[in-house]
Amino acid sequence: MVRAYNFNAGPAALPEEVLLKAQKEFLDFEGSHMSVMELSHRSKEYSRVHDRASALLRELMEIPEDYEVLFLQGGASLQFSMVPMNLLDKNLGASYILTGSWSEKALKEAKKVGPVEVAASTKESGYHAIPALADIQWKQETSYVHLTSNNTIYGTQWKEFPQTGHIPLITDMSSDILSKKIDVSRFGLIYAGAQKNLGPSGVTVVIIRKDLIKHDDSLPTMLSYDTHVNSRSLYNTPPTFAIYLLSLVLEWTKDHGGVSQIEKLNKEKSALIYNAIDESSGFYTGHADRDSRSDMNITFTLPSSELTKQFLQEAANEGFIGLSGHRSVGGCRASIYNAVPLEHCLTLAEFMKNFQKTNS
Ligand code: PMP
Repeated sequence: MVRAYNFNAGPAALPEEVLLKAQKEFLDFEGSHMSVMELSHRSKEYSRVHDRASALLRELMEIPEDYEVLFLQGGASLQFSMVPMNLLDKNLGASYILTGSWSEKALKEAKKVGPVEVAASTKESGYHAIPALADIQWKQETSYVHLTSNNTIYGTQWKEFPQTGHIPLITDMSSDILSKKIDVSRFGLIYAGAQKNLGPSGVTVVIIRKDLIKHDDSLPTMLSYDTHVNSRSLYNTPPTFAIYLLSLVLEWTKDHGGVSQIEKLNKEKSALIYNAIDESSGFYTGHADRDSRSDMNITFTLPSSELTKQFLQEAANEGFIGLSGHRSVGGCRASIYNAVPLEHCLTLAEFMKNFQKTNS
């Protein structure tokens, strides 16, 4: 079966094995004579799926006992609002680090809830880099520090996170969750839309330290973390099929050696494409500074907009999907999430080298 060279930024490639397993179980899930989509979300069968997804995520990310795992809806974008609504103390305000459009959007929503400060920003230099740790400054007392761990649009990624001490570090990990080992205990809250490394769109994972969960009657019920913690993310109908696929992707991740193996492979994959850029004598220019480069989204330009257009056209003719840069920045972008096979990265690197040879 021919599969596309899928370099989409999200929704993105899913592991073929996962899709085949879902196909096999599609009409009759575990002897229920119905699809997962047709099961009641209160049924025993679905309950097992839901709990398995949560347990696997805990195992793979080594999530400590004092954290809750939630499966919510509304995408990472709703978390831009839920985080401040639940965690921003108006007397203290909150601190945001700006490393791209998604952190700007998170900041914009927080401003509607209470006072905010920008603790660091690399906007002036076109979001080429992650700020140096020494350049980040937040008020001594602030509700939390927020950052975006991987900047999907600009192709930059944090390598080391700031030490925030007793102040909770809140992180949008939408585009690099599960791609490398992280120490969850460093964070107060992690959130991520599933549609890059975890599964299909429709479910958002939130990992929250228990002491940050507060009951606040003034919040809309659905927007309070407390509601979802108390009901195991089953307060209302969850996106059952998305959570089922998430559980299959997590099983696949485990079967492939877990996060440390995936991390190793991700490094090999990104090196193939970064090498094609670095060895091109300036034909390809990477957007990100070297020490801020993302292993998930590789952004680059060619010597002229005509050549970029030609590159994208020829790439499309060869079956490469999703290589146009985000509409806000242009150029090219290859998103190489966990499920993108090494061979596809190799094929892209070869294509880049050949294109350079014929056009320079
Ligand atoms: N944060 C980041 C880092 C993202 O890449 C995206 C989506 N590409 C979002 C937030 C928004 O996610 P959603 O569409 O799930 O709301």
